Amino acid sequence: MIPAQFDYVRPSSLGEAVQALSGGGDDAKVIAGGQSLLPLLRLRLAYPSLLVDIGGLGELAGVRDAGDGLVIGAMTTMYSLIRDPLVREHCGLIAATAATVADPAVRHRATIGGSIAHADPAGDLPAVIAALDATLVATGPGGQREIAPADFFVDYLTTALAPGEILTAIRVPKLGSGWGYRYEKFQPTAQAWAIVGVAALARRADGHVAEARIGLTNMGTIPVRARAAEAATAGAEASREALAAAAANADEGTDPPDDLRAAADYRRHLARVLTGRALAGAAGVR
Ligand SMILES: Cc1cc2nc3c(=O)[nH]c(=O)nc-3n(C[C@H](O)[C@H](O)[C@H](O)COP(=O)(O)OP(=O)(O)OC[C@H]3O[C@@H](n4cnc5c(N)ncnc54)[C@H](O)[C@@H]3O)c2cc1C
Repeated sequence: MIPAQFDYVRPSSLGEAVQALSGGGDDAKVIAGGQSLLPLLRLRLAYPSLLVDIGGLGELAGVRDAGDGLVIGAMTTMYSLIRDPLVREHCGLIAATAATVADPAVRHRATIGGSIAHADPAGDLPAVIAALDATLVATGPGGQREIAPADFFVDYLTTALAPGEILTAIRVPKLGSGWGYRYEKFQPTAQAWAIVGVAALARRADGHVAEARIGLTNMGTIPVRARAAEAATAGAEASREALAAAAANADEGTDPPDDLRAAADYRRHLARVLTGRALAGAAGVR
């Protein structure tokens, strides 16, 4: 279908983009890689009056070393994340997860900012951002502010971004020594969306897992942390059996969808099994 009519601007600075977006009111939308927004426009599920194309803002693309963390520009594509040496060295979970998103054609255009701002519960990067305790940086007419993932994801396809605000960067703490990671994605066919995904980080010390952080994809309307499983993992032996046992309550506090792709109970089962596997992978258990 052909999208409904809209105005289109392609600003050459962040200031101009914020001005255009806030001037367009509630009916204005940012377009980044267009991989989620364009299908919605074509299906007429979204009909903004103005599209602000941030594709020309080079300042929003790329990755910068900021000492104890990385600053990832919102316009950095999945393709770049997979290959970026800083991301691979310090936040390999992001690179590994981006490699599971869709297919090469989509990954060349889809951006990390778009994936997070779209807030699709089946999107892979939001759970990773939650597990990494990253910070979302937004710029709007009132200036810049930083938002924690727990406050950023509000509901299905809904974030804390105010009208006129643009997600400009993601600040990610560098993983220190001893930390490992794994993203486990259960998908019906290769390159498909996750039915359930689990992003796990584990810090191993003396044959045990000293600390773990776990983010769940598609186990509710927003990405959730599996806090009960995190607590059960702290101090657990680094063995497949012990980590599977620690993952037994990974679905606690979740509210998975019950839809044509999978029943809610099946998703709960997947969350437990995949969490055990992701923890074992993150802890380097063979
Ligand atoms: C065939 C196909 C398969 C896919 N499979 C997967 C998959 O397996 N896993 C997965 O995670 N994703 C998947 N995706 C989704 C893809 O990763 C997303 O489309 C992408 O991450 C969104 O990024 P984008 O840059 O294309 O955003 P756009 O489509 O341009 O924008 C998406 C939404 O975010 C808003 N937005 C974008 N950037 C910003 C910003 N910087 N600030 C404020 N608002 C912003 C837009 O206004 C819009 O509402 C798939 C997409 C396709 C087409």
